Amino acid sequence: MLNLDFHPTGRHFLQIPGPSPVPERVLRAMSLPTIDHRGPEFGALGLKLLSGIQTIFKTQHPVMIYPASGTGAWEAALVNTLSPGDHIVMFETGHFASLWAKMAARLGLSTEFLAGAESDEQLPHAPSWRHGVQADLIEARLRQDSQHRIKAVCVVHNETSTGVTSDILAVRRAIDAAKHPALLMVDSISGLACADYRHDEWGVDVTISGSQKGLMLPPGISFNALSPRAIDAMKSAKLPRAFWAWDEIIEMNKTGYWPYTPNTNLLYGLSEALEMIQAEGLPQVFARHQRWAAGVRAAVTAWGLPIQCADPKLYSPVLTGVITPVGVDADAVRRLIHQRFDMSLGTGLGKLKGRMFRIGHLGDSNDLTLLATLAGVEMGLKLSGVKLAGSGLPAAMDYFSSHPAASLKQSS
Ligand SMILES: *Cc1c(COP(=O)(O)O)cnc(C)c1O
Repeated sequence: MLNLDFHPTGRHFLQIPGPSPVPERVLRAMSLPTIDHRGPEFGALGLKLLSGIQTIFKTQHPVMIYPASGTGAWEAALVNTLSPGDHIVMFETGHFASLWAKMAARLGLSTEFLAGAESDEQLPHAPSWRHGVQADLIEARLRQDSQHRIKAVCVVHNETSTGVTSDILAVRRAIDAAKHPALLMVDSISGLACADYRHDEWGVDVTISGSQKGLMLPPGISFNALSPRAIDAMKSAKLPRAFWAWDEIIEMNKTGYWPYTPNTNLLYGLSEALEMIQAEGLPQVFARHQRWAAGVRAAVTAWGLPIQCADPKLYSPVLTGVITPVGVDADAVRRLIHQRFDMSLGTGLGKLKGRMFRIGHLGDSNDLTLLATLAGVEMGLKLSGVKLAGSGLPAAMDYFSSHPAASLKQSS
């Protein structure tokens, strides 16, 4: 039996790719008293947040903020823009793309799940899902659709189950090259505020995101960033919607309020997180995550273990998937690390169950917490009998010490 009264000393290492560790400053902001969500103070907060969040998505258009997890915002994107039986194309990058496709089917949409080649000569026993979205396959599929039956293309920007990113601009260009009117919907639930993202410039119609990944908040709020074409599509879309309906929210948001009780204390946290991200600067935030990811990969490479992402151009700045040797249950390694060293690592999801684990490098982290994370992983792998080519810790230490953070270079 788990003794819930027992708390180990020190901080638990929450090294899963979301929920990410929440900065103290955000937690403190959230502990302030809840205010009247119809009062004057709230309206001012609402307006500040609604314009602040636009700078993170890089959009001039409305952003919906829902008191729901990311899954709710997935549903909101679909039901506001589509009608029963509409045909949509999705791309199988991993477990989250699969869950979104399953949801679309449950909502009565006709879903087509494109997948790239899975074969991997370099690693014969490799698990699946090691690549990103193939824009050329999307373009070829859209070109076949001369009747424009396909109403939307849905892709995941940072596939959190694998640690593979996808080139969203390439998908936009594929849709344009095929001269196809399909809407482009992008799940950047874990990519936003970690990896470069440009809603307007990349011509995305709906971007879906969540609070508990790059935004460094607890779970509980999620987002839809819209385009004028998405708002147009809403006017003729026939899927049933009430709570998720954009029209009432857009109207009330004009004065900083919502049609229902918003998640007041999480919004205090969002206000704080936006200030932190804006003070650091988005380019620095992205560089910081790239640097952490490179340091973690230096350790994994020194161990001699394969990285789940097979394409170095698409390495995720958010997390790194580590494939365990054939016969080593990655979940057993995770359990041992949790028991011995009080650290949580991400499990292998769906098709990847037992074959890999995920190291999150996002949220309230720094070089030393990541080195401690890698020390825990290295000890856990050794205790599990995994033969390592070498120690990963010195490799990560070398990387971090020879690559000072961009913010330090600027201020020196
Ligand atoms: C976390 C995540 C989700 C699911 O979000 P919830 O907040 O768990 O509902 C969906 N897609 C991606 C890419 C994610 O990382």
